[in-house]
Formats: sequence, C-alpha cells, structure tokens
Amino acid sequence: MRSGHPWVYADSIRDQHREGVTGDLAVVFDRQDRFLAIGLYDAESPIRLRILHAGPPVALDEAWWIRHLRGTLARRDGLFGPDTTGHRWIHGESDGWPGLVLDRYDGTLVLKLYSAAWLPRIPELAARLREILNPGRLVLRLSRNCREAGTRAGVTDGADLWPADGAERVPFLENGLTFEAEVLRGQKTGFFLDQRDNRRRLGEMAAGARVLNLFSYTGGFSVYAAHGGARSVTDLDISAHAIEQARRHFRLNRHLPAVAQARHEAIQADAFEWLAGPATPAFDLIILDPPSLARRESERDDALKAYDHLVRGAVRRLLPGGRLLAASCSAHVTAAEFFETVRNAIRRSARGFRELGTTGHPPDHPSGFAEAAYLKALYIESAA
Ligand code: SAH
Repeated sequence: MRSGHPWVYADSIRDQHREGVTGDLAVVFDRQDRFLAIGLYDAESPIRLRILHAGPPVALDEAWWIRHLRGTLARRDGLFGPDTTGHRWIHGESDGWPGLVLDRYDGTLVLKLYSAAWLPRIPELAARLREILNPGRLVLRLSRNCREAGTRAGVTDGADLWPADGAERVPFLENGLTFEAEVLRGQKTGFFLDQRDNRRRLGEMAAGARVLNLFSYTGGFSVYAAHGGARSVTDLDISAHAIEQARRHFRLNRHLPAVAQARHEAIQADAFEWLAGPATPAFDLIILDPPSLARRESERDDALKAYDHLVRGAVRRLLPGGRLLAASCSAHVTAAEFFETVRNAIRRSARGFRELGTTGHPPDHPSGFAEAAYLKALYIESAA
C-alpha cells in the first residue's frame, strides 16, 4: 500500500473495528496505529478494500472529490485534438479511481463500474460529472460481477442516468474516422478505445496490402487499414452482430476515397477452427487481437497455448514480406510471457522473421501497477 498498490485482500486484514457495509469508506492503520490509507469497502469481494488515498490523513469531502476529478481529467490535457472525440477520461485504479472507468464518446459519457462499492455513490458521481464535464448524456454500465448488487440497489446495466432513453449507437471520431460505440450493450463501454494507437500504426502499414483482421469485432483496425490504402480487408469474427457493425463502420467512412475503394469482405467463423483449416499465404498484413484468453490465473497456461496456435495459424497465411500484429488483452498473461510465446511460435515456422517493435498502454489508459498492465502488442515482419 505504501508503494502505491491499490488493493487490500480480505485475508490480509488483521482486525476490523466493525463489520463494514459495501460502499463504506474504510481507514487503514498500521501496526503502530498510524493512518496509512483510506479506501472503498466491498463486503462481498475478495478485494475487500480499494484504496482512494494513501499517505498523510485527508478528509474525503466534496472539495477532495472535485480536486481528484479535475486532476484526473487534467492528465489528458493536450492528448486529443478535435478529430478524436472518443477517449478514456478515467482509467480505474491507475488513475486513483479503483474499479471505475469513464469513457467519452463525443457528447456522451459512459460510466462503468467494476466494483459494487461505487453503487451507493452513483448519484453524487453523476452530479459531479455533470457539473464539471457537462455531458449531453450519461450512461451507466455495470460489469458482470456487480449487476446483482446493482439490481438490489435499484440500478441496471445499460441505463441512461441522464437524460432517459437514449440510442444504443453513439457516433464519435477517432483520428478523423467515424465510429459508433454501442454504449448500452456493447463490450466494455461500447468500443475498444485502448487499441487506438495500434490502429493508427496499423493503418500506416496498410498501403496496397491485402489485410486479414482476425477477431475483427466492429472492424476498428479494418477501417484504419482501408483508410491507409489497403487493397482488400477481410474481417473474421464469430459474431454476426459484430460483422454487421463493421459493415456499418465502412459505410460511415465511405466519404473517404481510400475506404470506398478497398474491397471489404467478412467471414463469420470460429477463428481457431478457421485457422486450423487449409491455408495458403494470401495476406500482406494480419491483425490478431483475440478477446482475453485467460480470465483467471488458472487459465494462463491454456491461454499461452491458444496464442501459440493462433500465431502459427496466422503466419501460415502471411505472404513473404508480410506483417503480423499480435496483441493480447489478458491481464493474467504478462507482456514478457506473451512476447516469448509469439517469438517461439514464429521461430518454429520455416521462415525468417524480424521484429518491428512492441507497444503497451496508450496514455489515456495508464497502468500503475503489475495487475493493471493488460495490453501488449508485438509487430513482426516475415522475410521477403
Ligand atoms: N480487435 C477488436 C477487439 C476484439 S474483441 C478491436 O480492436 O476492436 C474480441 C472479438 O472476438 C469479439 O468481436 C468476439 O465476437 C470475437 N470472438 C470471440 N471468440 C471468437 C472465436 N472463437 N472466433 C472468432 N471470433 C471470436
């Protein structure tokens, strides 16, 4: 805690002066009874306490919360121009808001809670956000683990906090491209904002390329590739809904000549099965960005095996001189483990490869401690 770790597990609490209620503020004292930290108490989670402040004693009064909010928003100063209206305002623990995420999609804010400890504070959070950011709309999302508690507290996932009954799809700009976030039911808060910088890099590599986007979701990488001059873009995803939304994203950007000119195809399939099938090298650029393959620590080894299969399947489709972007969003797989797995997989293929570089978290998704570092990507290029 002294070095900034934001979680206190239930089994490391020695003594509690009373039973806590989820949402309480709890103060932590050290062995000498000195104030250490203050955080949000969750009576039902193994992460019993999520730290809001560590260091000298403070009162978490209204002025503190407003300062905290303004300071968090100020860390994004200058990051985005008018051609990027979708980004993260608050990124949980690493921003000092444990279990809380706030994303902006143009005039709409999406508040996503990953801990039931925030539920009793929704009205005050909403009031502060309206006061300081003055959004046109504020949507509430609850992660799976706190939906039941939400129901008991009278709040639901995908509810408009203000005003009532808005649309599912919210258009916004990212580097001048138009996308729609599915704010009420989409994954995370409706779009994968965390891949923005990788999408931009990928777009810059796409001129003239035949591109394959595995786990394409709503085609974020695909639209960048088309805009970057790709000859063709093939999306592959298991979800018909995701594929349909990718088609919509292409239509929304048809006013851009390169997007209108790129051939866009979609395959609805299980990527593992499809990759295990017959393969001929047919692509100059392949994106491999699967969902989290390890949702818990015990799934780590299986996830690494799955990445190995995916990478080997992908490189079999890569033309000489082709490039692969392999990404992982599994928090339980470290960057070192992931990179090692990808490197081993490509070493075992008959061809030579060269590494172009690796990336991590974008600046609006900071990662302040080991468990928070989930996003990593590796760019490789096959020998000509
Ligand atoms: N690369 C995307 C995010 C991927 S999200 C982006 O940057 O926007 C994960 C996607 O994988 C989802 O769209 C989900 O439908 C899809 N998916 C999950 N399991 C799959 C499988 N076995 N085969 C193909 N697609 C799958």
